[in-house]
Amino acid sequence: MLNRRDLLRLLPASAFLQANSRGATASEFTRFDSHIHIHQEAPALLSALETTGWQGLDIVVCPAVGNEPFDLDAKLAATRDVVLQGQGTLAWASTFDARDFENPEFVERTIAHLQRTFDEGAIAVKIWKTIGMAIQSKSGAYLLPDDPRLLPIYEAIQNADRTLLAHLAEPDGAWLPLDENNPEYPYYSRNPQWHMLGKAGAPSKEEILAARDRVLAQFPDLRVIGCHLGSHEENLDALSKRLDAFPQFAVDTAARVRYFARGNHEQVKAFLERYQDRVLYGTDFSFRGGDENAAVRSMNARHELDWTFFASEGPMDYEGQPTLGLGLPEPILRKIFRENALRWLPTLNS
Ligand SMILES: [Zn+2]
Repeated sequence: MLNRRDLLRLLPASAFLQANSRGATASEFTRFDSHIHIHQEAPALLSALETTGWQGLDIVVCPAVGNEPFDLDAKLAATRDVVLQGQGTLAWASTFDARDFENPEFVERTIAHLQRTFDEGAIAVKIWKTIGMAIQSKSGAYLLPDDPRLLPIYEAIQNADRTLLAHLAEPDGAWLPLDENNPEYPYYSRNPQWHMLGKAGAPSKEEILAARDRVLAQFPDLRVIGCHLGSHEENLDALSKRLDAFPQFAVDTAARVRYFARGNHEQVKAFLERYQDRVLYGTDFSFRGGDENAAVRSMNARHELDWTFFASEGPMDYEGQPTLGLGLPEPILRKIFRENALRWLPTLNS
């Protein structure tokens, strides 16, 4: 009989190889949401994903800043449990707590920690915006993504053939005045700790992304998925430059499809056609407990709305924004909604 750890290792193989076996109402193939957060029991969400023909990547984030206590091991264990219960519906990505980066044992301990999560089935590692925007040294300097103490960790991720998921920086709104003209007003008014304008000593968005780009330049063989369009949601030209410069860099669309919906239709379409191998569909759907049936409705509605936007042509409404469906051809839809995940997260197949 298989023990739990063996089962976790086997799950991706048993589930993801039968790629197209399940029929979906809105598409002929099983779609993949590469950016989900579910870290507690959620049987209704798991069965909704199965019913509607979706699989996904459940990503663990360590959001802790300052000295606040945070039980990362408990969150990782809870995530593994959800993935196990999903029986192939979800794969998962682990993470580490970077707050301890000045400790001389940080690098070795973090690499050992990540290796344990790989042994337990994690197929990717997430780094979060705390790096660049929140974590500071004892002397007050902000930790940047290319800090020398993080480099051996990236190398270990590459050596383990895992993918680095990088949510670094934020939309421009984090550095704009917090008023109703700010396109991200709803988020930063509720989460003022991430509104960076006027924070003494904090790096600019450009400085954070430049540090990320130095990591990409230094590790040409490390697969990196930039979450949220790599934080270039307002500027597809800037994103194109990075995609051209760094062939091992891809992006997910999590929580940023609305930028496509309000952007220039022809430009967005041309971008997705040109970079059809480099974009992974994702939502950033998060279940934080409470009414699970309401969460199911919200997740299903998000998947349906986004699928309609990418797959259909003609006028439609996207969260109150009149827009045009992109009407992408089937081969491109297959890439963005499934095949790119299998390619950029190759451990899904192993
Ligand atoms: Zn997320």
